[in-house]
Amino acid sequence: MTRALIDLDAIGHNTRLLARAAAGAGLMAVVKADGFGHGAVQVAGATLAHGASWLGVTSLQEALELRSAGITAPILMWLYAPFETMDEALLADVDVSASSIAALETLGRAAKRVGRPASVHLKADTGLSRGGATEAEWPEMIETAVRLRAAGLIEIRAVWSHLANAEDPSDPGLHRQLETFARIRAKSRSADIDPPLIHMANSAAALQVPAAHFDLVRPGIAIYGVEPVPGRVFGLRPAMTLESTVILTKRVGPGTGVSYGPEHVTDRDTTLALVPAGYADGVPRRTGGRGWVSIGGLRCPIVGRVAMDQVVVDAGDHPVVAGDRVVIFGSGENGEPTVAEWAEWAETNPHEILTGIGTRVPRIHYSVESPKETSTRSPSLPVECAEMTPS
Ligand SMILES: *Cc1c(COP(=O)(O)O)cnc(C)c1O
Repeated sequence: MTRALIDLDAIGHNTRLLARAAAGAGLMAVVKADGFGHGAVQVAGATLAHGASWLGVTSLQEALELRSAGITAPILMWLYAPFETMDEALLADVDVSASSIAALETLGRAAKRVGRPASVHLKADTGLSRGGATEAEWPEMIETAVRLRAAGLIEIRAVWSHLANAEDPSDPGLHRQLETFARIRAKSRSADIDPPLIHMANSAAALQVPAAHFDLVRPGIAIYGVEPVPGRVFGLRPAMTLESTVILTKRVGPGTGVSYGPEHVTDRDTTLALVPAGYADGVPRRTGGRGWVSIGGLRCPIVGRVAMDQVVVDAGDHPVVAGDRVVIFGSGENGEPTVAEWAEWAETNPHEILTGIGTRVPRIHYSVESPKETSTRSPSLPVECAEMTPS
């Protein structure tokens, strides 16, 4: 009943827009977490068809899923423990990030076993304090890398880092990260590490921090059409529409308790509409009494607690009936809520809303531009807007 429609043309548009913004730098589409909930394989295909040349994922499992789907483009993965065995990454021709000497040694051992060198992206921690070797650790890091390279066990494909706050270009922390990265690159060069790729930029940096572009940008959220910089509009198109169907309506009088608790009691005669989408589907539990959905172009509030599988919507006196299409979020073009609004209601970021869409929600991919790529049926068309009452 509840389904996520994925507009692959929007993904294509966003990829082209980002590639233009990156002006000369290559583009690695970040498709981790199942393509931010959009379906990694389909998103990868759409981005590669529109200007991406690399794919970025977190885990080996994610990388192997892309390879199993027949995707041959370069893939980088960046999160694993040094005590894991990385043989499969090398065998599947997946580039691997190295954040420490231990990680480099792991890759060296894997290379010995499988009989081919690991393609390594040396990761620098320039101020985020997550993955990567710090500036203090860098001399030993590159010493190890040079030794393994000389032994034919690794190829050094990139030096890279990740930004903490590219959303605010005036943040001194951003400039400190860029300066630290410059020193780290200089140290690497003086140790004869001058790889073909330097990369640092996430979505926000790809769009507004040219100094972080280097050879490759790594946008994630912008690929999916969510504007990454608060207050700025770059013209991205949201790719996902989460929709459902009214499955039951009932007319109730004032004083009627709604959902568990109840935390909501009606104060008038009204029509309640049951929508089969709950927190297991990705409707955050804390949006009970705060979230809205669009039914027939009309915004209606979610009343009472969000349950695991369903929510109740107050349709007032509007003639809502079972079978009506419900838009939970979409592009906003027809007045429906956007992911950004849901993020506000849930006090989180759009990334968490998108990656929180449940696995039982089918993803339906469509493309009007290239129908051949359409993996499933076309989306249902929006119903006529009766009236819009913005929240
Ligand atoms: C998630 C991620 C990205 C993409 O970040 P966005 O802000 O979504 O563009 C880029 N690089 C790394 C290392 C990441 O983990």
